[in-house]
Amino acid sequence: MAMVFLGCKKEDEVAVHPELRPHFESFKEEAATRGITVDFEKRPIGGELISDPERSELGWCDTENGTDQIVRINVLFWPVLTPLNQEKLVYHELGHCFLRRAHLDEKNMQGRCLSIMHSGQVCSDNYSLDTREQYLDELFLQIRRSQP
Ligand SMILES: [Zn+2]
Repeated sequence: MAMVFLGCKKEDEVAVHPELRPHFESFKEEAATRGITVDFEKRPIGGELISDPERSELGWCDTENGTDQIVRINVLFWPVLTPLNQEKLVYHELGHCFLRRAHLDEKNMQGRCLSIMHSGQVCSDNYSLDTREQYLDELFLQIRRSQP
């Protein structure tokens, strides 16, 4: 059964929730402007808005069936985030799922996280329209500037 199902499933049918889709698209574009190819057809990643009573995080990257990767966003928090924070959250989870990055809690002199891949336990970032470019350079290219 499972084999038949997988055999019939086309890669582009991996579901991404409509509210997450624009962020998946812009992630791909931001990567492209930095010379990084993000091909969700070759490496399909799902995107879900879900409620999981076991989890209190804003989002996480899940692996199912050993390989299928899914960005899961906590539906309880999603509606109260600003569009910029929604973007940052999806990018963080795609950082895990697609870029295979781990958490990074490096800080600058002011104690700000230098990466949006921070764990949320040590420091907070300063992600805004002014600092977005630097944070995305860090996300895709791992270039860390001292003053994001
Ligand atoms: Zn994380």
